[in-house]
Amino acid sequence: IGKLLAAGLRVAICDQVEDPAQAKGLVKREVTRVVTPGTVSEPSLLEGKEDNLLATVLWSADESEGGGGAFLDISTGRFFGRRWTTVVEALDDLRLQRPRELLTDPVTLPRELGTWADGEIPCVTSLSEEDRLDLGRSRELLERQLEVSSLRGFGLEAAGKGGAGEDATWVVRAAAAALAYAQETQHSDLSHIRGFSLRRSGEAMVLDATTLTNLEVFRNLREGGRKGTLLSVLDRTATAPGGRTLRSWLRRPLREPEAIGERHRAVGELLEASLERAALQESLARVADPERLLSRAVLGTMPPREAAALRDSLEQVPAILETLRGFRGSLLQRLAGTDPLPELAAELGRVLAPEPPVSLGDGGVIADGVDDELDQVRRLARDSKQVILEMEAAERQRTGIPSLKIRYNKVFGYYVEVTKANQHLVPEEYIRKQTLVNAERYVTPAIKELEEQVLSAEERQLALEEEHYRRLVDTVASSGEGLSALAAALGTLDALVSFAEVADRNRYVAPEITVEGGPIRLRESRHPVVEAASREPFVPNDAALDPEEAQIVLLTGPNMGGKSTYLRQVALVVLMAQAGSFVPAAEASIAVVDRIFTRVGASDDLARGESTFMVEMIETANILHHATEKSLVILDEVGRGTATFDGLSLAWAIVEYLHETRRPKTLFATHYHELTELATVLPRLVNRTLAVKEWGEKILFLRRVVPGSAAKSFGIQVARLAGLPKSVLERARE
Ligand code: ATP
Repeated sequence: IGKLLAAGLRVAICDQVEDPAQAKGLVKREVTRVVTPGTVSEPSLLEGKEDNLLATVLWSADESEGGGGAFLDISTGRFFGRRWTTVVEALDDLRLQRPRELLTDPVTLPRELGTWADGEIPCVTSLSEEDRLDLGRSRELLERQLEVSSLRGFGLEAAGKGGAGEDATWVVRAAAAALAYAQETQHSDLSHIRGFSLRRSGEAMVLDATTLTNLEVFRNLREGGRKGTLLSVLDRTATAPGGRTLRSWLRRPLREPEAIGERHRAVGELLEASLERAALQESLARVADPERLLSRAVLGTMPPREAAALRDSLEQVPAILETLRGFRGSLLQRLAGTDPLPELAAELGRVLAPEPPVSLGDGGVIADGVDDELDQVRRLARDSKQVILEMEAAERQRTGIPSLKIRYNKVFGYYVEVTKANQHLVPEEYIRKQTLVNAERYVTPAIKELEEQVLSAEERQLALEEEHYRRLVDTVASSGEGLSALAAALGTLDALVSFAEVADRNRYVAPEITVEGGPIRLRESRHPVVEAASREPFVPNDAALDPEEAQIVLLTGPNMGGKSTYLRQVALVVLMAQAGSFVPAAEASIAVVDRIFTRVGASDDLARGESTFMVEMIETANILHHATEKSLVILDEVGRGTATFDGLSLAWAIVEYLHETRRPKTLFATHYHELTELATVLPRLVNRTLAVKEWGEKILFLRRVVPGSAAKSFGIQVARLAGLPKSVLERARE
């Protein structure tokens, strides 16, 4: 199934739906489930720390009226929607969330979304005519699922009033379509999905997919792997919910200084208390994934070992909460108040055997002492086995056949097997049943009688165990709300502990957070990833962006000097701070930003039919249209992909525009030294450069950002370091 899903296929699973022992004639079979890439819930087929999202996108017939989307993770019950007014917004969200499967109406889906989906999403499913619920039925379905009489509480109140703007019609319909599809594929009521959030812009810092890519937050630029990413430095979570929480914090950093401060205080406390932190880490490491285990219980697909994993996880919780009670910060205090679900824990502990077997049919899933009858038949089944062993020994003795065996198979039940060589020793009352190449098989009345007892005891045992186990799984499923809350609390705690651990190891400090629109000041800041990866000591640098005096920092300097590193480092520090992490600096004071924009390097998007320069300008246009005074803009070598004077002129005009019109805090790195003259006419622009030492032909990169501008780029020296032929270098110098 894993391979088929990875290939973007859907898999129908058929099973017997009657007990074969009871069925008359052919046992009835049905499709019991359809597994699709976006609706899997088997832990072995999921990436523990990643969401597994099914996305539904519906769009108005008139493209300009916008559309809506819903995202559902069946394995955890996470369910949220977005309202989009433009295709670009939708594309940004989809690229950010990276769903595994897209459910859509191909007729109205905007072309650009369709092309992107075909290239990026392994499984695109068309909604059939009957699956396209109208608004009324969509609303009904959602209300039933969420157990509410109005969708108002979920921010979907305006649904149906028509018109664009805040209207959530498409979100409601997309959410209903996602649910209907999930119910149909799972053949289950999905009672663990009880919440829905309509995300609005404004709550969190906006990080578009381009910026996450450029800053290498989750995936590196080289091959899309984890190595060399911010995540690889920051993720020391012990649990899957913790891993998912950390990712969502990095994807949507906070904007509310109070909320950010709360996380920082928690990280600070955990950082100080290293003993308690170690204890928490140890307990967390024994916690499985309660959210995904819950969904398995609800879907009725929870095997005994997973129930045991849940039991073992719940056992860790009281100690975790006890440790948390020792802390004072409001966030940790709130987490300490989480319900540890003692009744559920006790029930799992009481009913489940200490180490249950893989499958229910193996027997031994239910503990001794749960049910008198079960204990009795189990003893019988076990004892009869002993009796059979004894009988085997007795028959060997009596017949004088040392290799005589009593065995069991489904066709004959218990039988005696005697090799061909010993046939002459077989007693009269043995009844021949089957002839094999080397042996004969027999039954005897005594064996048959015993068999009856054993089989009925075993059958009864399994039936009783199944009954108890089903009841237990139902208990788990009905504790949905508590388990979700517990999973969320453990995920939050794990992410905070991870931040504290990383801060401790890497000597990060608590940033001071100030309100939007103010300055950003970093003393001796470092690039978190380069610092961790490089063998050479990292040279720390200060940074100051100030809306009044240094709104734009124009950075010139030699090739290889460290410009790109510096730009990214400032952006990453801000992102980390707003996500709740401490930061790599000696001191940091950061005014919250509403959005980080980046335009870095040259990347072709030939698949989309756009040239390097076109992509560069599209991304720049996006920044110039959307940046605000509260944004942070990182521009690395804009204007490089065209003729020198076109590029220079554009760069010049762009800097002026950012200075005069949008006024975001901006870091601009360039090799157009002519731009440094702008400092004489633009009052809020300052020049910075990366220091180098020069002796004759040689250069030494000092990696220090200092006031002033570079006179040259040392391109020829760097080319020499790269090994260009001597004659070429000499000719270039000439
Ligand atoms: P170009 O103009 O050629 O694109 P650049 O100025 O953008 O170059 P970077 O790519 O940022 O230079 O850095 C070049 C190298 O220097 C990288 O390998 C980086 O790891 C290293 N480096 C950058 N900054 C520092 C620092 N502060 N301390 C130590 N090493 C650094």
